[in-house]
Amino acid sequence: TVRTRFAPSPTGMFHVGNARSLLYNWLAAEQAGGQMVLRIEDTDAERSKPEWIDGILKAMAWLGVDSSQYEGPYFQTDNAARHAEAVAALLDGGHAYYCDCTREQIAERTGDPHKGYDGHCRTRDLGPGPGRAVRFRTPDTGETVVTDLVRGAPVFPNAALEDFVVARSDGTPTFLLANIVDDMAMGITLVIRAEEHLSNTPKQQLLWEALGATPPTWAHAPILVNDKRQKLSKRRDKAALEDFARDGYLPEAMRNYLMLLGWAPPDGSEILPWQQIVDRFRIADVNPAPAFFDVKKLRAFNGDYLRAMSATEFAAVAADWLAVHFPAGATWADDRDRFAAATELAQTRIAILSELPDMIGFLFTGVEIDPASWDKALKPGAVELLTDALGALGELGDWTADAIKDTIERAGQAHGLKLSKAQAPVRVAVTGRTVGLPLFESMQLLGRPETLDRVAAALS
Ligand code: GLU
Repeated sequence: TVRTRFAPSPTGMFHVGNARSLLYNWLAAEQAGGQMVLRIEDTDAERSKPEWIDGILKAMAWLGVDSSQYEGPYFQTDNAARHAEAVAALLDGGHAYYCDCTREQIAERTGDPHKGYDGHCRTRDLGPGPGRAVRFRTPDTGETVVTDLVRGAPVFPNAALEDFVVARSDGTPTFLLANIVDDMAMGITLVIRAEEHLSNTPKQQLLWEALGATPPTWAHAPILVNDKRQKLSKRRDKAALEDFARDGYLPEAMRNYLMLLGWAPPDGSEILPWQQIVDRFRIADVNPAPAFFDVKKLRAFNGDYLRAMSATEFAAVAADWLAVHFPAGATWADDRDRFAAATELAQTRIAILSELPDMIGFLFTGVEIDPASWDKALKPGAVELLTDALGALGELGDWTADAIKDTIERAGQAHGLKLSKAQAPVRVAVTGRTVGLPLFESMQLLGRPETLDRVAAALS
């Protein structure tokens, strides 16, 4: 049966690339009726932090992969005894040897610090001792062929693979070793991970074989690049899942978008229900070319997802987002009718939820009029128009959007202003902004007393 694993290191924010590896692994297991394992690779004591582990679990749950969907979490540090046993087995089998060369000595001999290890200790037959690392003896001839579902069968000449370190001089295992020892112990049959690891794969496959086991099938997902075709980086690019959650991207939109990086359903459709992705995605159909992580497109996706919700769903999602990410607006939803009406007006006008406070805030808090916008709105005739409108609105029978519109239109005509021009100063006075929700509906929602107060305040 198929066993995949997701094996993040808790050393930083959860990256969109991690999210994609997670989804691929989850899907590959799900489709095969197999199981995904979660393993936290926490052997880097200096960089691993409990809060990053927490971040991983939260990010996974946000994406819809909660603890019922995987086995684990397992922690790599709990497997220390297995790692040591594997190193001992490699030494016993003659697949590894002790080495006391320093980096400087190696560089001096090879004349190039980037060149790999020169094999100096291969035949020295050193025993264990302080300052001695353990290196794996790679074959000098032949080639290692990796079975990769995305890339076919990449071939690596063994002569180009250096004798790499499996245990450092302090006894700790390297990533190359710990990672496969755990995979072996956990019965992993399919390893799906990022292309960054492809160069590790022939070395790891040789380790599997040296330890007498059958290597898994591999799949290396394409690197993600930004709009300049540079590899996506946490420092340079927006790439942390938490940032997207905070900005008001929906997990459903994010999940859908991530799946289209290097894959498309046969009919070319882009926005599709998760179940269809589950049914149609094939890891073997993923394109190995670098995939452009296009935030603009993701944004557009998100807007589509927002618009596809019912008004009630949207209001609920908006309230949840405000409660977590916009404390100043956490109570807006308590005014249920107004909040429902406001979010319904905003639903088609925003692409991400963080645009909501700016758009609907004036309905729940007072306004601060930006002097520059006010000056711009004050075309000749505007003050007179507002003064007239204030009087007429005070006497209006029904406080409805249509009646308000007629009133402003008439007041405008009296001062030679078309409705579009007449609206501008009213909008700034009432909403504090020059663009936003439909004005007359907003005024209706705000109610007569508050609306008139705002116009009067702007005029004073
Ligand atoms: N901890 C490694 C990483 O996050 C795992 C790589 C792998 O999936 O094998 O890059």
